[in-house]
Amino acid sequence: MPLLDKVLIANRGEIALRVLRACKELDIPTVAVHSSADKDLMHVKLADETVCIGPPLSTESYLNVPAIISAAEVTRASAIHPGYGFLAENANFAEQVEKSGFTFIGPTAETIRLMGDKVSAIKAMKQAGVPTVPGSDGPLTADQDRTLAIARDIGYPVIVKAAAGGGGRGMRVVHNEAVLISSVEVTQSEAAAAFGSGVVYIEKFLQKPRHVEIQVLADGQGNAVTLGDRDCSLQRRHQKILEEAPAPGIPDEARREVAEACANACLEIGYRGAGTFEFLYEDGRFYFIEMNTRVQVEHPVTEMITGIDIVKEQLRIAAGLPLSFSQSDITFRGHAFECRINAEDPQNFLPSPGKVETFHAPGGFGVRVDSHLYDGYTVPPFYDSLIAKVITHGEDRGVALARMRQALDELVVEGIRTNTPLHRVLVRDAAFKKGGVSIHYLESKLED
Ligand code: ADP
Repeated sequence: MPLLDKVLIANRGEIALRVLRACKELDIPTVAVHSSADKDLMHVKLADETVCIGPPLSTESYLNVPAIISAAEVTRASAIHPGYGFLAENANFAEQVEKSGFTFIGPTAETIRLMGDKVSAIKAMKQAGVPTVPGSDGPLTADQDRTLAIARDIGYPVIVKAAAGGGGRGMRVVHNEAVLISSVEVTQSEAAAAFGSGVVYIEKFLQKPRHVEIQVLADGQGNAVTLGDRDCSLQRRHQKILEEAPAPGIPDEARREVAEACANACLEIGYRGAGTFEFLYEDGRFYFIEMNTRVQVEHPVTEMITGIDIVKEQLRIAAGLPLSFSQSDITFRGHAFECRINAEDPQNFLPSPGKVETFHAPGGFGVRVDSHLYDGYTVPPFYDSLIAKVITHGEDRGVALARMRQALDELVVEGIRTNTPLHRVLVRDAAFKKGGVSIHYLESKLED
């Protein structure tokens, strides 16, 4: 008997293929749901069953909850894997899935809701002993004097953030008291329009932080482990483009302390599944900013250094199994990098969909490519531009980086433009090679 009777994959692209591969390995039958623009996706060709759930626009297909639930009913799927993006962090979807009698491969709707609201997430994390950014400890009220006093206490610059914000939107940096109240008001009304909630809070604005995150796995049965950290500081417009594990140059004790705090927090909130605690890291200290209650794009770098298949663990946990290992069973080996290859113009970053005439994936010792591309595949214009993840592993950072340089040189994608040239420059960049650049480094380099 397989772990789960049949898994419906409610996503597309590389992550859908990633989930399908894990299911195949575990002999779990699969259902691929896809939009009418996606019938040629690699995982759709490989799935046991397929269902077209709507037209190209994601609001009518990959975000169409009734269509996905009906597809699960028609195919008699037993569980739904949401991947990342789309409905992965939508508590109402998780609730609908469970109410309809299917297993949601992820945490409970209640946990998603708790962590999806940044104010409640920060409160829960603070209670659980996870270090947070000094801030208003809750929503701002109509009391302007109180708001001014809070910001004065924290010290400028501060950042006004929407509790329901996401994707790097709904934030405003404030450098002095004169513009605080007007900035709060603008953020409130923008947040109300964009996210349906005008609740905002204030945090200290850290000037040159790194983005360091902790991967966790928890079974919801009293066991939680951490799989170490990743550095995702190379970002453009809050989008990560190159990640590594472990984060370089973090003192052992700080690393251990924050990881332990995250594992404890999982137990405190009854977390179930794979998850990521995101932190800003500055001057040797970690500051929690948010939790992602799903598998992340950059999960492979952690898999490479731990040897643990995170997606298979998600499936095991969803099947109700307790974690089969404890923290002391996890050993960290070497270093790994991931370059996100996007179908976009390397100069102006505009999307570059179209037909892939040639795709040649790099190979060799310590090289992994997660991609749904093949010769003749057409990248549709409707979705995220991620087309491949090139991942390398080596016994140390230098070896992993040398392998990445070579892998990027071997990669061929013809017919559309990609950001490969940018990656080729980055892996040869002196500051990046040294390790530990801040979240502003890439954008400042691009301005030069
Ligand atoms: P989102 O959910 O939109 O991704 P986050 O809270 O994760 O929002 O913040 C996104 C990014 O905004 C962070 O990666 C960081 O670059 C910046 N940011 C957020 N909070 C702060 C802060 N207190 N100080 C400095 N930068 C911040």
